[in-house]
Amino acid sequence: MAENAYRELLEVMKSRGGPYAGLDIPEFFALVEELFDPEEAEINNVLPRRPASIDEIAAKTGRSPEEVSGILERMAGKGLCGVSKISDGELYRGLPFMPGIFEFIFIGGGESEREKTAARLIHTYKKAYSEAKGVAQISYPLTRVIPVARTIRAGNTIHTYDQVMTYIDQYDVIGVGACYCRQAAKLRGEELHGMPVGVCMWFGEVAENITGRLGGRQVAKEEAREIVERCEALGLIHMSRNTTDEIDFMCNCDRWHCEVVGQVLKQPRPGLIFNSGFKPAFDAERCSACETCINRCPPEALTMSEANVPVVNTDRCFGCGVCATGCPEGAIAMENKPGFPAPPKTAKELVTALKSIVQ
Ligand code: SF4
Ligand code: SF4
Repeated sequence: MAENAYRELLEVMKSRGGPYAGLDIPEFFALVEELFDPEEAEINNVLPRRPASIDEIAAKTGRSPEEVSGILERMAGKGLCGVSKISDGELYRGLPFMPGIFEFIFIGGGESEREKTAARLIHTYKKAYSEAKGVAQISYPLTRVIPVARTIRAGNTIHTYDQVMTYIDQYDVIGVGACYCRQAAKLRGEELHGMPVGVCMWFGEVAENITGRLGGRQVAKEEAREIVERCEALGLIHMSRNTTDEIDFMCNCDRWHCEVVGQVLKQPRPGLIFNSGFKPAFDAERCSACETCINRCPPEALTMSEANVPVVNTDRCFGCGVCATGCPEGAIAMENKPGFPAPPKTAKELVTALKSIVQ
C-alpha cells in the first residue's frame, strides 16, 4: 500500500511541475519517503493545486473529515501543503517541490535531524535530477530582479513595482524566515560567505501561513525596511515572482547558494532572462577605479576598460544595482534598459506568457 502511495506521488509531483518536478529515479523515492509518511503521501496525492475544503479532500480518500483535517494540519506544519484562511476554517492545496515544499521546510531555520536529513536528500535529488535531465533551458523567467530603487538616476521611469519598499508599504502582514538556499547549505555544513539566513520575506496570506505554522516571524514595517537595507549593503539581490500585481514573497539572493541565480548563470545570456529592466551607467569623472563594483557584481558582468572605468556586459547584467550601492564614490547610477518588456501583471498572465513561449 505504502509503496503504491509513493509511486502515485511520483506522478502527482510530475504533474505539479516547476524545477525538479517528480522524476523516476531512486533519489526521488529516498527523498519523498523521508518527507511524507504513507498517510501524508496518500493525502498529498488527492490535493488539488487550487485551495480545497477538508470535506472535498476527505471525500476523495474514504477517511473522515476529522481524520483528514488532522493529517492536513500535520502536513501544513511541516511545509508539505499550502493553507488559506477563510471565514469558517481553512482551505488546503497541494504544492510543487519548487516553489513550495523545498522552501517551506526550512523557513523556521531549525537544525533538527529531520531538517538536516531533508537538506541532504534534497541536494542529492537535485544533483541526480540535473545529471539525468541536463541544464534546463529557461525560456521565460518565472522570477525577476527588483533593483535597488534609490540608485536609479533621476529622470528615468520607475514603476512602483520597481521599488522594493512599496511591497513593505502595501502589506499589513509581513513575515520573515530563513532563505531556503542558505539554510539548506548551512545544514550541509557549507560556507555561507558571511551571508545572513533569516532575511527572506513573505507578504499577506502567505506571511500569515509561514508565521503561524512554519516558524517564520512577523515583523513590523520598520524592521522589514532595515532588513532590506542590510541585504543591500551586503550585496544581495532582491528577487520576486515575475509579476507586478501579485507579489507574495521577496528573496534576498546571493551568487553562491541561490537556486534561481545558479540556474540563470548556466544560461548563455543570463542578463536577458533575469533582469530588472535597468542597467548601470558610470560617471568617469567620479570613478577612482577601485574595482569594488567589479568584485560585488553577482554575475561578473563588469570589467575594467583601458580608460580605467568599468564597462558592463548587458548579456550578463541583472540590473540589480548591487554595484551602485557599493560604489564609494557614488559614480554609478541605474538607468532604464531600452526595449526591456514590462513584466506580466498577474500569475495568470505569467502562465499565458510562459505557454506562448513553450508553444
Ligand atoms: S566602485 Fe565606483 S569608483 Fe570603484 S571602480 Fe566601480 S564605479 Fe569606479
Ligand atoms: S553590473 Fe552587476 S551588480 Fe551592477 S546591476 Fe548589473 S548585475 Fe547588478
